Amino acid sequence: SITPATLSAISTSARRGMLVKSGVHLENFDKITAIAFDKTGTLTVGRPDVTDFITRTNEEDQEIIQRIIQIEKGSSHPLAEAMIRYSANHLDPLTVNASDEMTEVTGKGVKANFNGDVWAIGNEKLFNASSDNWYEQQATVLKGHAKTLVYVTKNDEVVAIVALKDEIRQDTIEAIKTFQSLGIETIMLTGDNIKTAEAIAEEVGLSRYVASCMPEDKVTVLKELREEFDTVMMVGDGINDAPALATAHIGVAMGAGTDVALETADIILIKNKLSKLVDLFSLSKRMNTIVK
Ligand code: ADP
Ligand code: MG
Repeated sequence: SITPATLSAISTSARRGMLVKSGVHLENFDKITAIAFDKTGTLTVGRPDVTDFITRTNEEDQEIIQRIIQIEKGSSHPLAEAMIRYSANHLDPLTVNASDEMTEVTGKGVKANFNGDVWAIGNEKLFNASSDNWYEQQATVLKGHAKTLVYVTKNDEVVAIVALKDEIRQDTIEAIKTFQSLGIETIMLTGDNIKTAEAIAEEVGLSRYVASCMPEDKVTVLKELREEFDTVMMVGDGINDAPALATAHIGVAMGAGTDVALETADIILIKNKLSKLVDLFSLSKRMNTIVK
C-alpha cells in the first residue's frame, strides 16, 4: 500500500515535470550510489552538426558528397541527418536518389554498392583500415576536441573523414557536479571511440566512461555496475538503451526519448532536464525522513 507521504511526493514530482511510475522508485532514489548515462540525446542534445569535412584530394569531393546523400538518405540516425544537412550545402539532396540496397550495420554504420564498389559510412569497426593512414593525424586532433568521427570509405579505403559535434545539454554539467558532491559515481556509456569519449567525459566532468559500447554492451555494463554498487540508476533515451534501463534498479528516460525507452523506464523526465534528477533526490530524501 502507498503511504500519504509517497503519494504526495509522486504528485509533487509530476507537477515539476518528473513522471514517477511507482512509489518504490522514489523510496529507493536517495539510495542511489551510481548513475550510468547514455551520451547522445541524454548528456547531449542529440542533434549533431558537421564541423569538419576532410578529403585526401579535393577533386573527389562531388562524388563523395553524392554517395553520402545516396547512402544516408535511407538512415534515420542523427549522424545521417547531420551529414545530409551538411551535404545540402554542396548538392541539392532532392536531385539525388537514395540507394535502394543500402544496409545498416548495427553499432557500426551504413553500406551500399555502386558500380561494383563498396561504399561504407561509419566508425572504425565498419572497415578494415589499411596501413596508409593519411587521415590518422587529423582524426586524432578532432577526437581530442570531443568530436565524433565518421569515416567514408570506398573498398575499405578512407576517402573522407567527417567530424561532428553535439552540444552538451545546458544543465548536464551542474547536475553531474551535484551528484559527485553527494558521493555518487557517474558513468557515461557511448558508442564513440575512446579518445572522443575521454574528451567528452572531461568536458562534462564525469568520473568514468565506457567507450566503443555496442548496444548489447550496455546491459553487460549495467550488470557489472550492479555487482559493484548497491543501487544503480541508468538514464537514456534510445531504443538501444531500453534493455539497460530495465537492468538498472531505477531506469530513467528523457521525455524526448523513443517510445520503447519511455515504456521501459521507471521515471520519465518530461522536459529532458538532468537537473530534475537532483530534485528527485532531495524529494526522496525528504519523503523517506517523513515516512520514518
Ligand atoms: P549511438 O547512439 O552511440 O550512436 P548506434 O548503435 O546508433 O549508437 O550507432 C553506433 C555508431 O555506429 C555511431 O556512433 C556511428 O559511429 C555508427 N553509425 C550508425 N549509424 C550510422 C549512420 N547512419 N551513418 C554513420 N555512422 C553511423
Ligand atoms: Mg541516446
